[in-house]
Amino acid sequence: MMASLIEHGIRSPAVLHAMAGVPREEFVLEADRDHAYADRALPIDAPGQTISQPLMVAVVVEALELHEGDRALDVGTGSGYQAAVMAACGAHVVSIERVGSLAQTAAERLRRLQYDVEVFEGDGTLGVPERAPFDAIAVGAAAPRLPVALARQLVEGGRLVVPITENPGGEELTRLRLVDGRWQTESLGPCRFVPLIGADGYEVADTD
Ligand code: SAM
Repeated sequence: MMASLIEHGIRSPAVLHAMAGVPREEFVLEADRDHAYADRALPIDAPGQTISQPLMVAVVVEALELHEGDRALDVGTGSGYQAAVMAACGAHVVSIERVGSLAQTAAERLRRLQYDVEVFEGDGTLGVPERAPFDAIAVGAAAPRLPVALARQLVEGGRLVVPITENPGGEELTRLRLVDGRWQTESLGPCRFVPLIGADGYEVADTD
């Protein structure tokens, strides 16, 4: 997995160190433990949800430009893997997940593995106002547009990395930076994510 990350352009020593250290096999289903380090998304214990592909986790976390002691928000806890990688980069992490069972399992797992992550259950499109502001925010699901409540929870100089749907079936990983009180956005390339469901996201799916 590490060779593949380097081959695909991951350069940050902190991110590479974190990816090498977080035990991905602890975050996947029992049946998938043998290929926990394959570079692909794997199912987690909720219909249609996945633990993201390691390369995508590394790309997102590198784009967050985390520094030791940063306050970071992870929207869409899922298994808790990306939150653990962010914490392993030295950030104090708050993570929010809309599916209660996932939030609970991830919170227990992250506590057992001793990562500095506080897990909330709720609609992450609204951020976590009681823990804001954040130096960095990662969104692990595709938004139909820029989630403004999240952008408003950034400190000056803060970074928000979010996949935004450009057209059906195609998302663009987007980084927003708050510079001198203004939002600057840049495109980081195409990506694929499950939908972000909530007040400032997509409507609840029929299957929910
Ligand atoms: N980063 C996660 C990991 O490491 O396992 C995987 C994220 S998974 C691709 C996307 C997650 O976002 C799902 O668990 C889904 O339930 C969650 N989600 C979708 N909409 C959400 C919302 N509005 N607030 C919080 N979580 C949301």
